[in-house]
Amino acid sequence: MGVPTLGCHCAVCSSSDPHDKRTRPSILLSRMRDGIVHNVVVDTTPDFRFQALRAGIDRLDAVVFTHAHADHILGFDDIRPYNMRQKMAMPVYASDATIETLRRTFAYVFEPAPPGTLIPEVTLHPIHGPFELLGTTFTPIPAEHGPVQVFGFRVGHMAYLTDFGRLPDSSKALLADLDDFILDALRDEPHPMHQSVEQAVALVRELGPRRAWFTHIAHDLPHAATNARLAAMGLPNVQLAYDGLRFEVRL
Ligand SMILES: [Zn+2]
Ligand SMILES: [Zn+2]
Ligand SMILES: [Zn+2]
Repeated sequence: MGVPTLGCHCAVCSSSDPHDKRTRPSILLSRMRDGIVHNVVVDTTPDFRFQALRAGIDRLDAVVFTHAHADHILGFDDIRPYNMRQKMAMPVYASDATIETLRRTFAYVFEPAPPGTLIPEVTLHPIHGPFELLGTTFTPIPAEHGPVQVFGFRVGHMAYLTDFGRLPDSSKALLADLDDFILDALRDEPHPMHQSVEQAVALVRELGPRRAWFTHIAHDLPHAATNARLAAMGLPNVQLAYDGLRFEVRL
């Protein structure tokens, strides 16, 4: 829902710490190649336009989707300026199920444009295994988000895995030797479709990444106090992610 959450005046929603301002979850992968910064975004959230302005994305090379829930797709229409500037259809990578929902939710994108208007132009790339973007391999990591199958993605020694409650052993095998692991940790209270902090901590202990970053955080978790709590648990390298967090990825 984002933090502040509409209508809420709890301590986190009214916090003055900029780390407690949370837009909907998404990551940007950037790589300089041939003198040009190439960009791939994972999910187009309802905050996508604002996030792209904030991150200064002048060029977008592809969109990769984790799944088709509203908080991950509703900014999709805002890829139009990149269609226009780059004079190209946007490559979209997603599971068959996510593509099906995109076709329903954004039906107009897949119908002919009314004359003189501009609708998003896309090429669809169904994900059935690892694929290449930014000159490197994106490995899909299947996970269970309640009844919904989602994809996390591993790129080099980084993995991004939002929106899941259970991770099959076959996916855990794809997450060895990580420098940075970004993973779902919604809140302390258990949720049928998301990991709690306790479950996320257990998974981090099991997989042993060098650093872990919790994401998809609800307003239940204050940034500074939760990080202090994790440090007190002997996990100084496990922290809440925050809007604007940046790091280098070892390929
Ligand atoms: Zn709140
Ligand atoms: Zn979801
Ligand atoms: Zn979500």
